[in-house]
Amino acid sequence: MDRHIVHCDLDTFFVSVERLINSDLKGKPVLIGGNGDRGVVASCSYEARKFGVHSAMPMKLALRLCPEATVVRGDHDLYAKYSNIVTEIIEGVAPIVEKASIDEHYLDISGMDRFFGSWNWTKELRSKIIKETGLPISFGLSVNKTVSKIATGEAKPSGEKQVADGTEKLFLAPLSIRKIPQVGEKSYLLLRNMGISQIETLQQMEVFTMRRVMGENGVSIWQKANGQDNTPVVPFREQKSMSKETTFQIDTIDMNILRRTLIAMVDELAYELRAQQKLTGCITIKIRYSNFDTHTQQISINYSNSDRVITEKVMELFKKLYSRRMLIRLIGVKFSKLIHGSYQVDLFNDTQQDINLMQAIDKIRNRFGVNYIKKGICLLDKEKGGGHDDQFA
Ligand SMILES: [Mg+2]
Repeated sequence: MDRHIVHCDLDTFFVSVERLINSDLKGKPVLIGGNGDRGVVASCSYEARKFGVHSAMPMKLALRLCPEATVVRGDHDLYAKYSNIVTEIIEGVAPIVEKASIDEHYLDISGMDRFFGSWNWTKELRSKIIKETGLPISFGLSVNKTVSKIATGEAKPSGEKQVADGTEKLFLAPLSIRKIPQVGEKSYLLLRNMGISQIETLQQMEVFTMRRVMGENGVSIWQKANGQDNTPVVPFREQKSMSKETTFQIDTIDMNILRRTLIAMVDELAYELRAQQKLTGCITIKIRYSNFDTHTQQISINYSNSDRVITEKVMELFKKLYSRRMLIRLIGVKFSKLIHGSYQVDLFNDTQQDINLMQAIDKIRNRFGVNYIKKGICLLDKEKGGGHDDQFA
């Protein structure tokens, strides 16, 4: 059966939500993020991009490039609310929906063309979202996820683009290799050093050349450059959770041990999230007391994979749940509502230093394994604490 895959992405999502609340921001350069000394730009309007500003840039530098910009601290709860409204509209009409990030969805609408024609269907959905939310959004439609995502990028801002079946290579050929979602900074530099900057050049290469230079990653990039991608649209509810728990060798009420154990587990799980390019939207804490009474509590959070953000939530939850000063036999942490997405700068609290530290630690772990490096606080006294790798459902 022919596949009809839609990708949609809200345009400068955080900025657009802020403009709904405060129309004075329309048409002006807007920066969302922390305004402190070490704040980082989480999102910026097209008007600000013209000055060379981009997300993840230090706020100080952004303001030097674009001094007239309005800085908005941002409200992640508000963004999550609007994101969910968009998801509900899409889920109301599309058969298979994958929420890929706070402002991105993939839809598999294969088979619907028999009734509507998928291009008209896509255009109608786009008008509906704009009408009901007031948020600008762009769409791409093609036979697979990669081509549709790239089409959305080409349609932006506030546009829609269809790549007809059979014209994928033609559409991709003139574009920069940077447009391939899998090509990050490192692959980009490597390919540039080989004299490759256009997707067309990749299309003309032999796949075995790419394998020789970049391994399986190179094969996958080559396939995408040729418009090939069989990955399915995975509905949100099918995505898994990840968890860790620790059973203490001696039951404990020592807050220091409990705290360090929780931080160590979050640290490893958050690293796992980042390694898999996922974000969690829900955290669960489990406590089992020495009498085997077991209690859990969970909380929905703004999608994150940041150690610090998640640790704060975990400690809050733990304090709420652990009100009875009873000996604890086991504690566990679970992340669920996982979605695909790479690290999104935390509006309020992330500093460039936090981000650099997390990336440096991840790099070492990618090379030497997760246990090679640990934060000072996580080094447990072996007499008191146990290992932690069991999973709980
Ligand atoms: Mg977006």
